[in-house]
Amino acid sequence: MYRSLRATSLVPRLARSLRVQPTVGSVSSIRFISNTNKNLADDAAVQAHTPHKPDTDNYLDTLNTSELLGYGVIGMCTLSKPVLNMAIRAFPYTPLWMIRLLVYKNYCGGDTLPEVMKTGERLSERGIRNMMVSYTVEACDGKKMSVSIETIVGETKRSISELLVPHTVKMIQEAGIANINDIPPGYVALKPTGLIESAADILLHYQEPAYKGRYEQLVETCSEIIKVAEDSNLTLHKQFPGRKAPFIVAIVDAERNDLQQGVYKLQRDLFARFNKVEPTVVGTMQMYLKESTPNLAKEDKLARQGGYLLGWKLVRGAYIHTEPNRAVIHDTKADTDANYDSGIQNALANMSSEKPSVGHLVVASHNPNTQKMATDLLEKVSDKAVKANVVLGQLLGMGDNITYYLTKHRDVKNIIKYVPWGPPLETKEYLLRRLEENGDAVRADSGWPLVKGVAKTLWKRAF
Ligand SMILES: Cc1cc2nc3c(=O)[nH]c(=O)nc-3n(C[C@H](O)[C@H](O)[C@H](O)COP(=O)(O)OP(=O)(O)OC[C@H]3O[C@@H](n4cnc5c(N)ncnc54)[C@H](O)[C@@H]3O)c2cc1C
Repeated sequence: MYRSLRATSLVPRLARSLRVQPTVGSVSSIRFISNTNKNLADDAAVQAHTPHKPDTDNYLDTLNTSELLGYGVIGMCTLSKPVLNMAIRAFPYTPLWMIRLLVYKNYCGGDTLPEVMKTGERLSERGIRNMMVSYTVEACDGKKMSVSIETIVGETKRSISELLVPHTVKMIQEAGIANINDIPPGYVALKPTGLIESAADILLHYQEPAYKGRYEQLVETCSEIIKVAEDSNLTLHKQFPGRKAPFIVAIVDAERNDLQQGVYKLQRDLFARFNKVEPTVVGTMQMYLKESTPNLAKEDKLARQGGYLLGWKLVRGAYIHTEPNRAVIHDTKADTDANYDSGIQNALANMSSEKPSVGHLVVASHNPNTQKMATDLLEKVSDKAVKANVVLGQLLGMGDNITYYLTKHRDVKNIIKYVPWGPPLETKEYLLRRLEENGDAVRADSGWPLVKGVAKTLWKRAF
């Protein structure tokens, strides 16, 4: 149903405007990439050389006092590289109660589902009407966790039925049926290393006969969770027949690079099992990896052969600080940026072509140029099914200035925040990675500008 619906309402105009061949066949897909590389690289280079400075002055006004104080602390920690390094070194020794008091709420949705539901409502007041929820158990491959695998699987399933489904329905009802496709899906993130004991070993050795059974067990565990999403979609499509995107999407997170070959296999097996009709499963590609663009072409070919849809969350990649083999990552930030932008352009052209293999795209980034480019391209799309299946995402507590620009100045509706939730001890590792990420780029939403902005906003409120 989904494929035929898409095939009859295509937007070859976008493909033309992107100067990409609209027919992306299995063999020609490789040609497709190389033929268009120059144009795409040109486009990316143009945008990279014209940095976008969005009008974000008022974004702090939309935050409450406790959120502002949390950002004040982050601003202090990111005043300069040496201060940030000191904060990163001190972080593991900082007591949990202090972290919870100062910054936890800025980055994490809560310990329990009712708390995350409130976070969702708070986000909707800011124009962000859905979430990508992750029962966050960071770096759990082999490490001792404070919760069992059964708890992680159970809580992840509950986060679909008791959080994402009611929240999505509420958002649809508030927006009105006429605007049903303005509400982004609710996403449930699957972190492969949190879903089975000794996950890292399994992902590293999935091809070896000794690991076959354990790998299949991992696929089954993911499938058990995705089935909850699939069943919810079936019910909700009956209730809201005008919907052109899934209501709930399961999204496989990308991990550290040595595990990624196993993760690619896992997400491919899940695409093949669940994405015959609509893109219920979305995988992740880390565009800082040199292998990412060839990988996307390979997955395109396999999807066409297997008759299933791909869904992509494109990220730059979060493991640059810990990657032991720097050679796998693009040589420069500019190379990563150009590769990321061409990934978005190719995915959008594919979705708008006569025979799409990509059914869903999440542009997960805090980079203003990237998000502006994606929004500009999406404005040229008239196909409702394509529009409903492209969503922009930022992490809770990160890139709030760009989220504000997109919702307030560009009237973007297709936007979500990644909301980690769960046991505070486990979310500490997640918070550390966010702190490290704050040092990756000079941002208007960290350091001195943030401290100044917070102080100015609090002053305005007090007097
Ligand atoms: C909704 C959402 C989901 C996410 N899920 C995942 C996930 O599953 N897996 C994952 O790994 N990450 C994930 N991320 C994190 C994402 O990878 C980081 O947010 C991202 O790396 C930060 O980059 P940016 O796009 O915000 O842009 P920027 O701040 O412009 O870019 C910073 C990034 O550029 C790259 N970079 C920096 N310097 C260099 C250099 N010298 N050479 C080459 N590249 C460089 C690095 O990737 C760095 O993190 C997710 C982010 C979001 C918003």
